[in-house]
Amino acid sequence: MSKETITKIEIEKAATSKINDVDFNNLSFGSIFSDHMFVCDYKNGSWQTPKIIPYQKLMLDPSARVFHYGQAVFEGMKAYKDDEDGIWLFRPDENFLRINKSSKRLAIPEFPEEYFFDGLNTLLKLDNKWIKKGFGNSLYIRPFVIATEAGVSASPSSEYKFMIICSPAQSYYGGEVRVKIADHYSRAASGGFGFAKAAGNYAGQFYPTNIAKEEGFQQVIWTDANTHEYLEEAGTMNVFFRIGDKLVTCPISDRILDGVTRKSVITMAKDLNIEVEVRPIKVAEVLEANKNGTLKEIFGSGTAAVINPIAGFGYKGDKWELPKIENSYAKKIKEAIMDIQYNKAEDKFGWRI
Ligand code: PMP
Repeated sequence: MSKETITKIEIEKAATSKINDVDFNNLSFGSIFSDHMFVCDYKNGSWQTPKIIPYQKLMLDPSARVFHYGQAVFEGMKAYKDDEDGIWLFRPDENFLRINKSSKRLAIPEFPEEYFFDGLNTLLKLDNKWIKKGFGNSLYIRPFVIATEAGVSASPSSEYKFMIICSPAQSYYGGEVRVKIADHYSRAASGGFGFAKAAGNYAGQFYPTNIAKEEGFQQVIWTDANTHEYLEEAGTMNVFFRIGDKLVTCPISDRILDGVTRKSVITMAKDLNIEVEVRPIKVAEVLEANKNGTLKEIFGSGTAAVINPIAGFGYKGDKWELPKIENSYAKKIKEAIMDIQYNKAEDKFGWRI
């Protein structure tokens, strides 16, 4: 966290802190928020003076565009604290670029870089105590933009709210994850906005994911919308397959979120002398590799868990368990990335800020 504060931010501090009411050893992900939030409104064609105010409810017109036409994008990132109380962010420039890429696709005005970083740094300084030390602890940061102009007319809003809220998080263990490979529903279409972190992409996943849950899975691995032959990504994660000793993941496209963790996993795996192939991967190839014993691991990558190993998968009614593995790539790569995030290892890639 080294970028200097240059933006004029109006700050209204919370009269009292809620922190003493929080059991930091028993957090449910994303349900408790820190004392302050960052807010910046867009109107009359420009972003107004940014503010940091006590965390509070919003007052919006019921006809605000966001409620009707889904003009909303967001980001997910984390702040970490090292043993000397240093606060670190992991590749935040990537999140900044991505929220503007998402905004652009949804006809939302892009947010200025200095507002983003000055707002974030000032907020983290104010709510510094909410970032707990200890490997696995973090403050989850949720920047987002919503369309606030009143009026049920299907056109882009002329008013928006950019906000950042923060939620303390513990080491994330998603439990044993089993995934269903999609053969009917899809998450994104070519020419659509699957690459954007847009609210609607998530809403559309809930129903097919609920069906998968009834069938005993926790998540869906989405396949391409045209043929359902190619594996693309999981609900909130990019997906990797270890076939033999190679790690395979599909290329980024306009249907897939360009995950910050995915990029980091690819770089880190190569650094650990693991051969990585970024290429389209067919469901048939994974089924065949599973049959002949060369499918060794499947894992998802994302900010919440860094890497989430997948214990089993299903496709068109059949289910398979993956063998338990010693020396898993998932474990090795996760540890190496977390050592950088928590300032326990040299950061030769320049990811920690
Ligand atoms: N895909 C989707 C659909 C996601 O929501 C996320 C979480 N942001 C990811 C992949 C992983 O992205 P990242 O590594 O940047 O968290």
